[in-house]
Amino acid sequence: MKTLPQTQPAKSSELRAPSAQDLPDYAPVPRSALGPALNEQGFYVGRVERNLYWITDGTYQSAFLTTRDGVVLLDAPPTIGHNIQRAVDQIAAENGVSNKVTHLVYSHHHADHGGASSLFDKSVTRIGHEETRRLLLRDNDPARPAPEETFQDRRTLEIGGERIELAWLGSNHSPDNIYIHLPEHDTLMLIDIVNAGWAPVYICNLTEDVQGYLGAPAKALAYPWKHFIGGHLGRLGTRDDVDLHQRYMADIDASVRKTLPTIDPTPYFQKYGNNMWAAVKGYLDECTDAAAAPVIEKYTGVLAAADVFTASTTFWVMESIRLDLGYASWVHP
Ligand SMILES: [Zn+2]
Repeated sequence: MKTLPQTQPAKSSELRAPSAQDLPDYAPVPRSALGPALNEQGFYVGRVERNLYWITDGTYQSAFLTTRDGVVLLDAPPTIGHNIQRAVDQIAAENGVSNKVTHLVYSHHHADHGGASSLFDKSVTRIGHEETRRLLLRDNDPARPAPEETFQDRRTLEIGGERIELAWLGSNHSPDNIYIHLPEHDTLMLIDIVNAGWAPVYICNLTEDVQGYLGAPAKALAYPWKHFIGGHLGRLGTRDDVDLHQRYMADIDASVRKTLPTIDPTPYFQKYGNNMWAAVKGYLDECTDAAAAPVIEKYTGVLAAADVFTASTTFWVMESIRLDLGYASWVHP
């Protein structure tokens, strides 16, 4: 599909992939999960509210605010890449305002949301959480220069007469992921927690702190806002999307707690003898599949790709319930 990064495919004679007709089928994507059509260059740019705009390539999202002093960019995903400036140019021309990106706010340190940062090297001031700075200095990727302006818990940006409230409310998806609230635009940007209309991708959207991840939607809903920018897929979110995501995650959590005590690991240890990891894998895979099954059934047709990724997310929630919370853990007598 044309929204994916353009890589040069190997000649078909060199490929080892199975043919398309042998690949598994999944439930259809509900129409409600999809966003507006992309233009010929592979992006869509639209107004969120007043002078706040969002950009998508169908998989990733970024946003920007046009101000009397220039443009404030919120994340720079590399899959959107040079289309970010094209989108800014288009909106600036339509509204007769500056197209110069003067500020770039990092939501968190991950390359898939900030890897086009170095495209704006000439004029931009980078802003982010102090942990984002520490991680970017450590990981030393020239595509993502560390923010020079940092904050610890909260910071209010006043740029060109516009207000942006940044807050770090504890680790979640990553240790440094922040809440970006635009109170005068009725918008909250919180990346990699809730995918509007879709199930999370692998292991709770590749989350490092599952308990922080599970608590993040309630913190998001505690802010007043109408529009939600989640960073992924093709449409903006609403408060109902965040609420639905919360119910989905709560159902996974409840299903794990209900299922875990009912599964007997003994046959796996009998079968695999001294191969401890084979036994552990068999047992935990069975727990995962048993806990995920009712959630997949309930959310197929409600959240896109519930049948694709619920098992992966269930495994990660189960591990957090076991390891962080100590559930179903026992001490040798
Ligand atoms: Zn991330």
